[in-house]
Amino acid sequence: MDSIWTAELVDQLSALWQQGLSTAEIGRKLGISKNAVVGKAHRLMLTPRPSPLKSPPIRHAAGKAGPTCSWPHGHPGQPGFRFCGKRVVPGKPYCPEHAAMAYIQPKERKVQAA
Ligand SMILES: [Zn+2]
Repeated sequence: MDSIWTAELVDQLSALWQQGLSTAEIGRKLGISKNAVVGKAHRLMLTPRPSPLKSPPIRHAAGKAGPTCSWPHGHPGQPGFRFCGKRVVPGKPYCPEHAAMAYIQPKERKVQAA
């Protein structure tokens, strides 16, 4: 029954096993059945592996500076040009002051009767 297990195949099994692949995945890669992988691993007394599904908890970027106002001061390319840099209104690229300026409705032009 063990005839499929060449030294090379056993090495590959051990390597994949240590990488944390599932027995089904190892079987697929090696072209053998999952049961053969399980049986051979048992016979080789390969150490139980840590769960590959375990992942570090997602950490929220606490204390990270939020987006800042990108309202330009000055003229791009000229000395002294900078962005406002204040805290923005949530969902908008500008601080409250500049958001008001950016999103203000254009004044209606008085239509002069010619
Ligand atoms: Zn601003």
